[in-house]
Amino acid sequence: MAKITFIGLGNMGGPMAGNLVKAGHDVTVFDLSKDAVAALVSEGAKTADTAHDATKGAECVITMLPAGKHVEAVYLGEDGLLTALPEGTLVIDSSTISPETARGVAEQAEAKHIPFLDAPVSGGVGGAKAGTLSFICGGDEDTFNKAKPILENMGKNIFHAGDHGAGQVAKICNNMLLAILMAGTSEALALGVKNGLDPAVLSEVMKQSSGGNWALNVYNPWPGVMDGVPASRDYEGGFLVNLMNKDLGLAFDNAVKNQAAIPMGSLARNLFTLHAEQGNGTLDFSSIQRFYKPE
Ligand code: NAD
Repeated sequence: MAKITFIGLGNMGGPMAGNLVKAGHDVTVFDLSKDAVAALVSEGAKTADTAHDATKGAECVITMLPAGKHVEAVYLGEDGLLTALPEGTLVIDSSTISPETARGVAEQAEAKHIPFLDAPVSGGVGGAKAGTLSFICGGDEDTFNKAKPILENMGKNIFHAGDHGAGQVAKICNNMLLAILMAGTSEALALGVKNGLDPAVLSEVMKQSSGGNWALNVYNPWPGVMDGVPASRDYEGGFLVNLMNKDLGLAFDNAVKNQAAIPMGSLARNLFTLHAEQGNGTLDFSSIQRFYKPE
C-alpha cells in the first residue's frame, strides 16, 4: 500500500480519495474547503494545514482541481509543490485542463526528476463514487506503469493515450463528441415528440437503429424516459453545463491553435454557451433538451 497525498476534494476528488482510503492506502488530503477535508478525515484520511505539509513523505501526489490556473498555482511558482517534492515522487493530475498547461507542468516536473502523468477522467460523479472511472493518461510508459495500480483503485479502464498532454487531448475530443451527441439526441427526440411520438418509444427505436449512442443508451435527456438519470430529477447533479462549457472551450482553443476545423464542436459550444447564459449553467448537461423543448 502506498503513501498518497490527494489535493482537491470536490465532487470528483472527494469520492476518488475515499476509494483510495477504502483500498487501504495511507492517504493524506488537502483542500481549501474545510468541510471537504472533514468529510474525508471522517472516512479515515489524514490531513495537514498546508498543501506542502500534506505532501511530506508522499510517494504519490494526486490533484483533482477545477481548471488549469488552479493546477499551475498548486505546482508552479515560488510556493508551488514542485519546489519541495523529492526526486522520484510520482505526480498525477486528473483535472481536465489544456494539453499545453499539462505539458508545461510536466516539463517543469521532469526537470526536477519528478515523473508526471496527466490523467483526466471520464465517468462523472457516479463513476467516481463507484470506482469505475476511465483514466486517460499522458506521459511516458514507465510513469504510466507506476501509476496504473493506484488508478485501478479508482477506475476500471486505465488508458495510455500517449506522451504528456495526450490524455488531455483525448479527453477534450471525447467531451466534444459527447456534447455533439447529447445535443443531436435532444434535437431528434424533440422532433419526434412534435410529431406526436412517445419519447420512450422513439428512444427505443433509435437505440436499436443506426442513431444509437451513449446518450440514448445510458443518459436519456428526455424527462421520465429513463430512471436514475439527471433528466428524471430536474437535471440536478451529474455533469454541469458550466463544466461542459469549460471543456468545449478547451476544444475550441485547441482547434484554433492547431488550425483544425470543428464545425460541429463549435456549434455545440455555442448551444451550450447560450444554454448557460439562459441560467442553466449549474444543471446537468443533458438539460440541453430544454433548449429544444421549453418547459
Ligand atoms: P469541484 O469544483 O467540485 O472541486 C474542485 C475542488 O478543488 C474544490 O473542493 C476546491 O475547493 C478545490 N481547490 C481549488 N483550488 C485549490 C487549491 N489551490 N488547493 C486545494 N484545493 C483546491 O470540481 P469537480 O467537479 O470535482 O471537477 C474537478 C475536475 O474534474 C475538473 O477539471 C473537471 O472538469 C473534471 N471532471 C469533472 C467531472 C464531473 O462530472 N464533475 C467529470 C469528469 C471530469
